[in-house]
Amino acid sequence: MQAEVLVSIAHHQVDKVFYYNIPPSLAGRVQVGSRVLVPFGRRKIEGYVVGLNPAPNQEELKDLAALLDEDPIFTPLQLALARWMAAYYLCPTVKALRAIIWPLLQIKGPKKVKGLWPAVCGNVPDPRRAPKSAAVWEVIQARPGLTRKELAEAAGVSPRVVDSMVARGLLASKERIELRDPCRNLPEKRSVPPVLYEEQLRAVKKIIEALDKKDGRHVFLLHGVTGSGKTEVYLQAIAAALNRGKQAIVLVPEIALTPQMIDLFRSRFGHQVAVLHSRLSDGERYDEYHRLRTGEAKVVLGARSAIFSPLEKPGLIILDEEHEPSYKQEESPRYHARTVALRLAGYTGAVVVLGSATPSLESYCQAAGGGTYQLLELNQRVGELTLPSVHLIDLRRELRKGNKGIFSGVLQEAIADRLSRREQVILFLNRRGYSTLVVCRECGLVLKCPHCDISLTYHASGRLRCHYCNYSVMAPSLCPGCGSHYVAYLGMGTQKVEQEIRRLFPAARVLRLDSDTVGRRGAHREIIETFREGEADILVGTQMVAKGLDIPGVTLVGVINADISLHMPDFRASERTFQLLTQVAGRSGRGKKKGEVMIQTYSPEHYAITCAQNHDYRGFYCREMALRRALGYPPFTHLARLLVTGKLEREVQEAADFLAQAVRTTNAPVELLGPAPAPIGRIKDRYRWHLVLKAPVQNFLREAATAAMNGFYNMSNYRRVQVSVDIAPQSMM
Ligand code: ADP
Ligand code: ZN
Ligand code: ZN
Repeated sequence: MQAEVLVSIAHHQVDKVFYYNIPPSLAGRVQVGSRVLVPFGRRKIEGYVVGLNPAPNQEELKDLAALLDEDPIFTPLQLALARWMAAYYLCPTVKALRAIIWPLLQIKGPKKVKGLWPAVCGNVPDPRRAPKSAAVWEVIQARPGLTRKELAEAAGVSPRVVDSMVARGLLASKERIELRDPCRNLPEKRSVPPVLYEEQLRAVKKIIEALDKKDGRHVFLLHGVTGSGKTEVYLQAIAAALNRGKQAIVLVPEIALTPQMIDLFRSRFGHQVAVLHSRLSDGERYDEYHRLRTGEAKVVLGARSAIFSPLEKPGLIILDEEHEPSYKQEESPRYHARTVALRLAGYTGAVVVLGSATPSLESYCQAAGGGTYQLLELNQRVGELTLPSVHLIDLRRELRKGNKGIFSGVLQEAIADRLSRREQVILFLNRRGYSTLVVCRECGLVLKCPHCDISLTYHASGRLRCHYCNYSVMAPSLCPGCGSHYVAYLGMGTQKVEQEIRRLFPAARVLRLDSDTVGRRGAHREIIETFREGEADILVGTQMVAKGLDIPGVTLVGVINADISLHMPDFRASERTFQLLTQVAGRSGRGKKKGEVMIQTYSPEHYAITCAQNHDYRGFYCREMALRRALGYPPFTHLARLLVTGKLEREVQEAADFLAQAVRTTNAPVELLGPAPAPIGRIKDRYRWHLVLKAPVQNFLREAATAAMNGFYNMSNYRRVQVSVDIAPQSMM
């Protein structure tokens, strides 16, 4: 019997299993899922055991050099996902596998402490004769594994009582891993599930029915307007899954993974919940992962990569805000968490719930257009609440009236009105920084990043910053091109909105929420909590304020400029704009009072904006689908994108031409768009060209892309050029 090993070199040439002998010292300890060290060429490198089988031919095999962990670090289910992902997204298997198990690869091991467990014994302490011992006994039954000190404290006795029980053999001491629970310092609140109203109840019932069936995967699209109580549907569906001994995965977009959300899950499911997100320390992440592997935690709440959690057999998989672009990983493996979730459910027979107020066209047409998903609808907001009324403000008319400021007259009055009534306001602008464009009025020079094809953003700190590579310099006082004094700062970001609002309303208490203000650990939570407690009147922010916030005091949402995302060179620009506006509008009027929304725009006739104004998802869906059909874009076709990057533009262009030629000569019936420079022509000193492939069937794309890539690998001319393949791309930038 030999070990089949994937070596940790992400290269297509070594994307296969290698066989190694298992030396006697490791016999019986190496398993599928073990991480090992193997001799490879003249080095020793890390590898992953993916099978134990006799090697096919009896050539001389080398021995495994070492076993790196005592326990396997991935499950058979995770391995199956890795293999599928490699084939689906055209990436090396080991890359897919490492993306799945990265929390375990990153980090130093766990911290060990001595824990106590109830020992098997005949005489349970009698509460009347030995009340102290009995108290300890009761605690340890409920919470085995506490340390001596923790146990004494929890039972309200001196540690000596615990010691004597150890001496009498009532308690056994064992070494255990100390878990760094990211929520250890938070008060534990319990919440009682509310009574569901009719539409919610119907949705939960349908999900439960599916949980009880054993006939393969069921997919629901939960389309519920903002504030319709989708989260409560998730919570009760999860409770039902837990009752049936099943486990659940809940994915939310990173920025919606707010402390509020985490608290809510904790309050319902306590320590059965593990939380995974990017703000955890490595140790905390390791420990949450560990709790999932041992089965102590049965629900995982996390961002994109939590779909890979090491649950034995998830029975319910929920994606909240399923339309969010952040579910797509924008580096290899370029997976979409929704696609992975659907595949995973195919393996385990899990029920999938995709929730959104603004479903992606891809998902909605599967549910409404005769596909395989079932549509569940929540058309009403919870309780007596109605959707906010939305007003459009035509910025062209504002300009004609002579108002060149950030705020239209109407919006400014509405803000003043809320302040006087002590209600709260959210102002949304999807750009951070102060000025987004610095340009010389004499020679027209635009200050750009020296490494990227991107104009620099002026920040209130006095520095210019590139939002792609983070390059920064002091803002020059003279134009670096012609020496002119007339350097203009145009375009605005959230810092400018904040400053302007402070100038107009000096008494107002203003907070800003964007990636510049949440850098420090815990800052995100603080800002939201402060606002929620009513200790601020106005919250200015980027799309961080658009998602998930449920703050009853907010009765006005102002969108400073709705057009920013509308004119992106991307076929999803309208869809993104509609989604973003609907989401941010949904933050208004979630308390007792009716909400209002004001959207400032230069394109008040655009259907993405008017449909958002009228809360008209169906209307938007029909208009947009008609356009996509006419132009041959998803969901009517499938796309793949080959992005070519390199330091020399000539090489990049040549490589792109070569790939295009290779695509044209394959037999796969694909349509080729390009090659052309990508909309952002250079990032971090690398030039960027792309080719977009279109086909009625996704496998044709894989065929064509694989053929082109194989040709490319065989060409020695392009060693310095990189090509990444993106199946079902979300970003065309
Ligand atoms: P959505 O995610 O659909 O925008 P939420 O899940 O945030 O909506 O729900 C909006 C509010 O309604 C939340 O404060 C939630 O606690 C409350 N809520 C949800 N369902 C009920 C219910 N059945 N009874 C009372 N309150 C509810
Ligand atoms: Zn100049
Ligand atoms: Zn840059």
